[in-house]
Amino acid sequence: MFQSLQDKLNGAFKTLKGKGKITDINIASTVKEIRRALMDADVNYKVAKEVTDKVKQEAIDRKVMIAVEPGQLFVKIVQEELTALMGGKAETVNLKGSPAVVLIAGLQGSGKTTFSGKFANYLKKQGKQVMLVAADVYRPAAITQLQVLGEQIGVDVYAEPENKDAVNIARNAVAEAKSKGKSIVIVDTAGRLAVDEVMMTEVENIKKAISPSEILFVVDSMTGQDAVNTAKAFNDRLDFDGVVLTKLDGDSRGGAALSIRAVVDKPVKFMSTGEKMEDLDIFHPDRMASRILGMGDVISLVERAQQAFDEDEARKLNKKMRENNFDLNDFLGQLEQIKKMGNLKDVMGMIPGMGAAIKDVDISNDSFKPIESIIKSMTPKERSQPDIIDGSRRKRIATGAGRSIQEVNNLLKQFEQMKKMMKKFNAMTPGGKARMFR
Ligand code: GDP
Repeated sequence: MFQSLQDKLNGAFKTLKGKGKITDINIASTVKEIRRALMDADVNYKVAKEVTDKVKQEAIDRKVMIAVEPGQLFVKIVQEELTALMGGKAETVNLKGSPAVVLIAGLQGSGKTTFSGKFANYLKKQGKQVMLVAADVYRPAAITQLQVLGEQIGVDVYAEPENKDAVNIARNAVAEAKSKGKSIVIVDTAGRLAVDEVMMTEVENIKKAISPSEILFVVDSMTGQDAVNTAKAFNDRLDFDGVVLTKLDGDSRGGAALSIRAVVDKPVKFMSTGEKMEDLDIFHPDRMASRILGMGDVISLVERAQQAFDEDEARKLNKKMRENNFDLNDFLGQLEQIKKMGNLKDVMGMIPGMGAAIKDVDISNDSFKPIESIIKSMTPKERSQPDIIDGSRRKRIATGAGRSIQEVNNLLKQFEQMKKMMKKFNAMTPGGKARMFR
């Protein structure tokens, strides 16, 4: 995410390395480089100018007050200004009403339907009774797509495939949700390839008919300034409440994320970083600014982990580790849990300093496949007692998994080392300490 912008900003800060005082450097030239980095990232020109003017002023004002290296001071100032540019703090959605009605709008392909599913999933996990509504009357596949998602996450989907009147469908859906005691209705509307009158009018009419408490506008962040312009055109007509930025996983520049708030004057509320239902986060401007500057985002990482890991399971696992009973089945389970945290490269990028380190490395959730296929080719007994896996068993497992014997050997060796590490850890913890030194 935002890799090219991150590289360029770091390039701008690099010239400050080794400089003792801020008076030693030319503030103007550093600021100019930062501005160029932002412009290259497809940030709106006016926005880039405004933000770098502020950075410059701050640097001048603070140079006498702060006894830190100019590099650190600049990074801090830029972090603060980018945070302010993106709205300062995270904004919540308004879910008033019974049921609360949320309207989702955006161009075709922006990720509207996927987001509707993710948002429903997110609310369901909070114990809400959610209903999804397929109000796209032009693309029959859109209804099926939403139904498939609904089934996957266990949320009811309201659709009327024969009805061509989206306003009517939306109204019926809200009435149905009310009678079924649902607390939130999410209406996925039709999108077109470009902003057009028919689509605008239709969404406007749906808005009038069902009075949503929240209208979210979905944009594909990879389209940069086009995303910003589309959002502006829609907002002028629809006066929506918030923006959802999608496909940030594929966005190396970050222009939409950085400019949309300033240009449209509406907050970004959610960001999506992958196709899976879990790849959704609340948009936190400060955390985003840190990630853009390569400082990682440990808070989001911990939150993702908390959502993905089952507490009971974690406790059981902890016990197994302590008693040295951790086997290959548990290992397989752990891989499943990690995958649930979402797009692996994105998750790893949240570790400070890791983003830059892995930027050219090909990491995907498929990276676990060889390991998984090897473990899955083992019998239950082999998984729980890897010691019994002799030469002939290794050969059978390798053939079954379609991997080499070498890979099977490596996996078993690594697992063995992991167990040794755990044993050491256990010995070091209170109660076990004495044992280690005996
Ligand atoms: P809609 O036409 O606006 O409803 O768009 P869809 O929800 O059908 O999404 C269009 C495509 O983008 C689909 O292939 C989605 O899987 C994909 N997509 C949606 N959100 C994301 C995201 O955050 N990251 C990535 N990589 N793909 C996404």
